[in-house]
Amino acid sequence: MKRTPDSRRIVVAGGGAAGFFAAIACAEADPGAEVTLHEATAHPLAKVRVSGGGRCNVTHACFDAAEMAKSFPRGSRELIGPFHRFGTADTVAWFKARGVSLKTEKDGRMFPVTDDSATIVDCLTGAAKAAGVQLFTGSALRALRKAAGDPRQRFEAVLSSGETVLADRVLIATGGGRGSAGLAIAAALGHAVEPPVPSLFTFHILDPRIRGLEGVSAPSASASVREMGLRECGPILVTHWGLSGPAILRLSAWGARALHGADYRFRLCVNWAEPATPKAARDALEAERSGHPRRKVVTANPFGIPARLWERLVGATGIAPGTTWAAISNDALRELVAQSTASEFTVNGKSMNKEEFVTCGGVSLAEVDMATMESRVCPGLYLAGEVLDIDGITGGYNFQSAWTTGWQAGRAMALV
Ligand SMILES: Cc1cc2nc3c(=O)[nH]c(=O)nc-3n(C[C@H](O)[C@H](O)[C@H](O)COP(=O)(O)OP(=O)(O)OC[C@H]3O[C@@H](n4cnc5c(N)ncnc54)[C@H](O)[C@@H]3O)c2cc1C
Repeated sequence: MKRTPDSRRIVVAGGGAAGFFAAIACAEADPGAEVTLHEATAHPLAKVRVSGGGRCNVTHACFDAAEMAKSFPRGSRELIGPFHRFGTADTVAWFKARGVSLKTEKDGRMFPVTDDSATIVDCLTGAAKAAGVQLFTGSALRALRKAAGDPRQRFEAVLSSGETVLADRVLIATGGGRGSAGLAIAAALGHAVEPPVPSLFTFHILDPRIRGLEGVSAPSASASVREMGLRECGPILVTHWGLSGPAILRLSAWGARALHGADYRFRLCVNWAEPATPKAARDALEAERSGHPRRKVVTANPFGIPARLWERLVGATGIAPGTTWAAISNDALRELVAQSTASEFTVNGKSMNKEEFVTCGGVSLAEVDMATMESRVCPGLYLAGEVLDIDGITGGYNFQSAWTTGWQAGRAMALV
């Protein structure tokens, strides 16, 4: 496209999911504008490439805007409107229109049918090129200010090359993270920033009941932190460092700020026999005792708790390995109920969940028009993706919010 003094220039900072989606939406809606996409590193879409264990969990098969928004510890209220405008069905259709079909797994996660994140990376880079987006790698946005005395009230965007470009609209889509340059730039322009802290992490626990059991997964469990009012159900996985799995990751997301405040030291209570209540667990164990008096306690449990973990829970009650059900006293039964439905663990730190992690915190949503993603503090500036105080639980939600906010910003920047 030939640039004239009247050309409208849109600068997008951040070549991730949100930045690409916004740049494409903008360029497709406003072919006359010059849309430049600046990625600080040499590798645009790096997170998309590694996401979902290399398969890219593009979105979650939830097609109701209000229901979808419930999976966002930060942003649940504010995302309902945006999901009505560009929700899961729109994401599926967007990729399909560009030759990429998605499939849904049993737990609702959606992946490209190729099971390869390169399909998504190639689709986004191809769509950007086709729309005329100019991609600059190794090009970071360093500073942003309003051009003094400019009748068009454009921005001066200072790039890492030393070049300063005049832009009619600027999108900050530089992601989350403590050191995010985008957050510093937004703060310098007067935006309130909720302090960034990690979300989606695993719990560090040293405990003989789980030591050496890494890889063992309890399919139906729940985890709670009573003093913080947190409780989540789902599979719990024993790792080398402690506990992980969907229930733990969800707990880490909903409790991200409170757990940070506790310096990641707290008491965790696990029900390995979910949905059994202590009363139901007691009834089930009594039935074992009367039904199989000669069977060893360690050999089977009525809750579907994995055998090796059950053996440890039985051991923790002090019941000797060869003990039969007939020899179990009421006190021992009570102990077994407690270990099954309310195992107490001391968490003394967090470990990174390499599969997916995000940042809780970012630019305050009160300062953004959620229909356009334009800043209420600095007109002409837009924000999308994880730079905002939005984060979802694991399962494709975080990309969906990047597609949604990116698409809205792109379309809004295109409107003169
Ligand atoms: C290992 C891992 C796996 C994940 N898997 C999934 C998954 O399967 N499904 C899911 O929904 N979510 C997943 N997530 C979360 C998801 O990747 C993020 O929520 C999403 O990438 C956020 O998109 P974004 O565009 O806002 O930010 P990012 O993807 O972080 O992109 C921001 C980009 O901006 C660039 N940048 C930073 N500063 C500047 C600057 N000053 N100038 C120019 N560029 C700059 C960065 O280099 C980066 O490329 C995963 C996260 C991780 C870490």
